[in-house]
Amino acid sequence: MLSQLRVERTSVSRWSQVDWGSLGFGGVYADHMFTLEYRDNAWGNPQIRPYGPVPMAPGVASLHYGQTVFEGLKAFRGVDGVIRLFRPDANARRLAESCQRLCMPPLPDGWFEAAIEALVAVDQAWIPCGAGESLYIRPLMIGIEEHLEVRPSREFLFVIMTAPARIYFKNEGQGVALQVQEHYTRAAPGGTGFAKTAGNYAASLLPGQCSNAAGYDQALWLDGVEHRYIEEVGQMNIFFRFADTVVTPPLRGTILPGVTRDSILTLLAEQGIACEQRLLSIDEVTAGIESGLVREAFGAGTASVVAPIGRIGYQGRDYRIGNGGTGELTAQLFNQLTALQYGETPDSHGWIRQMAVTEASPVD
Ligand SMILES: *Cc1c(COP(=O)(O)O)cnc(C)c1O
Repeated sequence: MLSQLRVERTSVSRWSQVDWGSLGFGGVYADHMFTLEYRDNAWGNPQIRPYGPVPMAPGVASLHYGQTVFEGLKAFRGVDGVIRLFRPDANARRLAESCQRLCMPPLPDGWFEAAIEALVAVDQAWIPCGAGESLYIRPLMIGIEEHLEVRPSREFLFVIMTAPARIYFKNEGQGVALQVQEHYTRAAPGGTGFAKTAGNYAASLLPGQCSNAAGYDQALWLDGVEHRYIEEVGQMNIFFRFADTVVTPPLRGTILPGVTRDSILTLLAEQGIACEQRLLSIDEVTAGIESGLVREAFGAGTASVVAPIGRIGYQGRDYRIGNGGTGELTAQLFNQLTALQYGETPDSHGWIRQMAVTEASPVD
């Protein structure tokens, strides 16, 4: 497994140039990247080398036709100094599913996790240790064959880069504001909604901009057929708490099967909290908010963990959820997940992959 890995370390670390006191999300990359190439029907030439440009001709078909997939997960530096990855095997499985939809070759079993562990080990000084901070890991696969025919590439590049990051939404205590997108569609049945692929995000940029201009953080997507059923948010799955029952849209091929979503479903089931995966119309949600039946709502994703949703805009009206801040269950789930990720509670699910710490921890 990755036995051919070549490691070339940087001669000049950029670590000391980082403003560790005010991290953003993905604005600065760590010193190294992992690369792997697919040629002649096989993956090979695994390397860890200084993060930097990968030479590419403008005629590379993926730049034109979007044959790309990516992933997102995090490495945490625990309260005990131990480095933990959260469910990298789940990301490996999802990458394989995205690859299949985009006609891309899956990685051999175990390579995804092995590559991440090797890269994070080299850049472990880049894992920040503040509250809510982590090393965001971004694997990316792209077609790199030069051709303009519309067909799958025969050559691919797999890259992993990492970026020290704070939690995505910074608005302490204040919930995220979502605008229901009534016109545009993120994904349609039979499309690529379940795959983490570039086209989904390209299609979401204009609607996202419209939501920002209207004073909201993000768009809330409805189904592409009737514009009636809730789907998800830009990079989060969504949950609503109706009295004592939690409801989240089902995986029907149009939404991203989030690892955070799956983890939350497990945590809820363990605690005996009723949870339904079912179609949920926007009318049911707005009526529930008005009647007080909807007590809280939250988004779930690696970048934002569990983010409270404070208000939802629909048909020119604003629906405030609870007091617009963080609900009780939202806070509880956030705490449970982060306690596992930072090693404050023992992992009884086999979700945590612990890594050896070989370098002194960075700034305190
Ligand atoms: C990545 C992503 C999510 C969240 O998935 P996690 O595995 O929990 O990070 C949700 N929706 C979309 C569109 C995404 O890209």
